[in-house]
Amino acid sequence: MSQQAVHFAPFNVSVDISFWQELGSRKLDVLKLSTPEIPVTGVFIAGADGKTPGEVRLDRLSLEGHLEGKDSKEVLVYGRVLNFNTLEDFKKFDRIGAAQKVAAEVEEAAASFSTVSGRFPLTALTRFLVLSFMDLKKYKVHYSVTVPAVHHEDPNCAVSLERLPEAVSEALTSTQRDRLLQFTETDQHSLTSPQVYAIDLSSPSDVPPVALRDGPDMAAACSQQQEEVGGKSVFLVLVDPCGADGVLSWVWRNFFLWFSKTLSAGGKGGNWYCRVLVKKCKGFTEENFKLWTIRIPEYPQPGKSVPAAGWLFFLSGPGKKSSTVSSLDLAHFLDATALQANAVELNVKLIKWRMVPELEPERISQLQFLLIGAGTLGCAVARGLLGWGVRHFTFVDSGRVAMSNPVRQSLFTHKDAAAEGCSGLPKAVAAAERLREVRPDIHAEGVKLEIPLPGHTATAAPHPPPGGQEGSAGLLGSVQKVRSLLESHDVVMLLTDSRESRWLPQVLLAAASSSSSSSQADSSSPHQNGVEGKAGARAPLGVTVALGFDSFLVLRHAWGDPEGPTGRKKMGCYFCNDYAAPADAQANRTLDQQCTVTRPGVSSMAASLACELLASAVQHSGGFGAPPTTEDRGDVGCLGAAPQAIRGFLNDFRLSPQQTDPFEHCIGCSDGVVKAVQEEGDEFLLRVLRDPVELERVSGLSEFKEREARRAEAMATQMGKEGGVGGVEGGVGDGGLLSLEEDDEEDAFF
Ligand SMILES: [Zn+2]
Repeated sequence: MSQQAVHFAPFNVSVDISFWQELGSRKLDVLKLSTPEIPVTGVFIAGADGKTPGEVRLDRLSLEGHLEGKDSKEVLVYGRVLNFNTLEDFKKFDRIGAAQKVAAEVEEAAASFSTVSGRFPLTALTRFLVLSFMDLKKYKVHYSVTVPAVHHEDPNCAVSLERLPEAVSEALTSTQRDRLLQFTETDQHSLTSPQVYAIDLSSPSDVPPVALRDGPDMAAACSQQQEEVGGKSVFLVLVDPCGADGVLSWVWRNFFLWFSKTLSAGGKGGNWYCRVLVKKCKGFTEENFKLWTIRIPEYPQPGKSVPAAGWLFFLSGPGKKSSTVSSLDLAHFLDATALQANAVELNVKLIKWRMVPELEPERISQLQFLLIGAGTLGCAVARGLLGWGVRHFTFVDSGRVAMSNPVRQSLFTHKDAAAEGCSGLPKAVAAAERLREVRPDIHAEGVKLEIPLPGHTATAAPHPPPGGQEGSAGLLGSVQKVRSLLESHDVVMLLTDSRESRWLPQVLLAAASSSSSSSQADSSSPHQNGVEGKAGARAPLGVTVALGFDSFLVLRHAWGDPEGPTGRKKMGCYFCNDYAAPADAQANRTLDQQCTVTRPGVSSMAASLACELLASAVQHSGGFGAPPTTEDRGDVGCLGAAPQAIRGFLNDFRLSPQQTDPFEHCIGCSDGVVKAVQEEGDEFLLRVLRDPVELERVSGLSEFKEREARRAEAMATQMGKEGGVGGVEGGVGDGGLLSLEEDDEEDAFF
């Protein structure tokens, strides 16, 4: 018969979505901009349905090295993946050279391979290379795969059929058949390790087959049969993973190369004729056993090129041209929520790649935030924190979304204001809902609560139980609610629009920070920096943001022990420049004074700075207790400076980092006040809320004011005696401000 080339089924490589997900996360977390060739282990899945040729499957475990599959039909195949940083690098890569390099490795393995058992690991002769570019921003993957098969340029040198495949029952006598099948059926590993035997089918049945272990063995066995097919033959016993009839699996191509090379090495050149018992893996019934008689051409002369068959072709769609590049849209395989979570994480992780490799995003993203105030600042701060990957928010607000709100308060829309008969949705609840609409997988909840204000007892009972338990019971409930909210969060942002509403959270935060620093002396605790999420934080960190008409203040609160090993200076608080207890500031105010009248851009600037200040501070090894950055910027974290406070002025577009000195009679953080909160607790707080004058007494402020007034009076008298004029008007009666300025105190914030 005329020689007919043996056909090999095209190779299939299927890449599971989990492979790309794993490679993508390694790219982000480990590889970053480096592009090493990464070892990959594929599983060869036999084409068991009788039609498919079998395929190599790559999945998540492929990057970790598969364990030997329990399924006996599985064969492990080894390769590498090379993932590029840009599409251009991927496109211009020398594919032909790369395939030839892999083919050379196969040849090298074929040259050096020998066996002591007569068993030939198939996987030693199969290698693949995956080239890829992952566009992680768009969730697209472009990839190419080569599984080089070494073959001869000359068609006469192709592996060819000498006879059409014969049914075993026709080609062999029943005795021969029984001998062959009985032997091969005991071979449980024939798929992963085909064996080569010499069996003389004409000899009596008690002559055992000879397993051929190397080139000389095979050369000796083959020498008698070189011109003759039949009789004593070299048998290759293959379980073919390709289920289809009439073709052999791609993986045998390199095996035949190895075979002829081994024979050449054994001193026998020329063509070789073999009987190949092919068991199709679709089922081990007898009709799936075929006897092939093939000619394996002489191995090419040294120096003659043995090119590699190239890259796999992928069909890009029905009716479309096939291509060696497959493009996959990962977005189709992920739900929208997961896609967004990945994308947000990616944005933060990309900062690590080039800009700030030392960045630890989880130091901010894992924190749980309490936002007191869900207005202009609350909305803007929440969005800023979303950008840093923060996933836990609680809004506190007692108001409803008003018609004027949506244009400045970035989470709300007209619908929120028009809801409930135009009275608007509760702000805290609506803000949480809208934030979840921005990113659905986060935790966001709203608590409708009015923060008790000193001197505002009439309004400080937002949740009177049915039956009307007004007054101190409602007030106490509100105080306790604020306290429990503070305790269950890592960071508390004070974003309300009045000074007095900041007082209660301020003193509670100061007391918590102070008591935790004195009760936990172990400064080596990993939780000491308070940036590992609620489980590890000792006390929440406070951040105050306050707006003026065209100015703003962002201030992080003192946290931890200022007298600790860092020796840093104690930091003042928002109230440290105040010289009066907060009182009912809303009373007797005109409309423009009651509303927060600011230039529209002030709030978003302040909110952004608050988020960035926090992000900088927590990257410092001191975390919540990061020392305020001084002018020489000595001790800063990877994001740079973290001043204690920043004041911004839009009238001359100026930002000014600042540090506030503590005021010993401060109504928000002085020792007297903190001690009263710690020792008397709610009793003290209720007293102050009912009568703010109590606060001036406890803080020593009233005494201080009296002293200052006497001092100013004495000065005035003195100046009068010396004949001085003016200079005292307006200073003395205003809480001693003139004296304070003379003491070189900083300006009051607002
Ligand atoms: Zn203070």
